[in-house]
Amino acid sequence: MTHIDDLPVRDELRGQSPYGAPQLDVPVRLNTNENPYPLPGPLVERIAERVREVARDLNRYPDRDAIALRTGLADYLNRTGGVELGVEQVWAANGSNEVIQQLLQTFGGPGRSAIGFEPSYSMHSLIARGTGTRWIAGPREADFTIDVEAATRAIAEHRPDVVFVTTPNNPTGNAVPAETIVALYEAAQRAKPSMVIVDEAYVEFSHGTSLLPLLAGRPHLVVSRTMSKAFGAAGLRLGYLAADPAVVDAVQLVRLPYHLSAVTQATALAALEHTDTLLKYVEQLKAERDRLVAELRTIGYEVTTSDANFVQFGRFEGPGGAHAAWQRILERGVLIRDNGVPGWLRVSAGTPKENDAFLDAARDLIKEQEHNG
Ligand SMILES: *Cc1c(COP(=O)(O)O)cnc(C)c1O
Repeated sequence: MTHIDDLPVRDELRGQSPYGAPQLDVPVRLNTNENPYPLPGPLVERIAERVREVARDLNRYPDRDAIALRTGLADYLNRTGGVELGVEQVWAANGSNEVIQQLLQTFGGPGRSAIGFEPSYSMHSLIARGTGTRWIAGPREADFTIDVEAATRAIAEHRPDVVFVTTPNNPTGNAVPAETIVALYEAAQRAKPSMVIVDEAYVEFSHGTSLLPLLAGRPHLVVSRTMSKAFGAAGLRLGYLAADPAVVDAVQLVRLPYHLSAVTQATALAALEHTDTLLKYVEQLKAERDRLVAELRTIGYEVTTSDANFVQFGRFEGPGGAHAAWQRILERGVLIRDNGVPGWLRVSAGTPKENDAFLDAARDLIKEQEHNG
């Protein structure tokens, strides 16, 4: 049998592993920041109806420019984000990962570089690698905030073509203040000028507001969003961005023709009709997230402030560190995520029952550690 190492794959892919959270068949899975609630019945019906409507025309290519969908997305952003965006400022693709890939194909690539402030979403560096963009790991403070001076210095030193800022950040959960984004944007313009991509995958769960209003007057700023988290539609694969119309023109140079299937567009349009219901689930999840933060602190853990639908907690210093703790919690039937941040683990907010199961396991773990130590 041929092994991957025997194939003439690109040098920078040799010895690398594909992205993927380990999936295990356990009763409670709180490891991938999915929305735990299945789509509501009326939405399921509406999806079936809309897909049936387009099914007859599947002999034709879909709307290449996804105008109806992008109009619906712009309406949603305007309604919830305090902005007035037109359809020409919104672009959609198969998940925000594809949006980011298109942005790096457009603004990164061989001979260019991108910076992110780590720990953060590992797909940014992986997509950079896949597009031949050199990756620069920028600094974060011990409390996982971004120090404006240190970050500005890194941008001035490396002069990256693309700057990523994830807010609320994954896996740490904390949000980045608007003043920091503005300062990094200005630093990036002085250095190059470069594109600044704000990944707002979790913004609907935030205590604060979206950074969309910062787009006005900043033609190199991009805000990326997804239906995978707040909309509870990770299986749909629909991500989008808002930016200056020129950015939307630019990504069309690299997008594959007809990249968004008619079925995807119809399904996403159905979801947009039900945003009010979906955002009610978001309110429940926010309350559960706040409960996880409060109870984990009461139990005795250190917890990073969270504006997302997950919580980072620790610290695990003992033998085996965070990974041993992850294993002990797994043994109690609860799968959470070890993102490789030394001393910390991440748990997604699930249903109240799932969160109770997790909190019981977290309580047992502390008792065990007190007993042993
Ligand atoms: C989950 C996540 C996404 C979502 O990616 P999709 O491709 O839209 O599913 C994007 N950015 C961050 C930071 C995430 O955690």
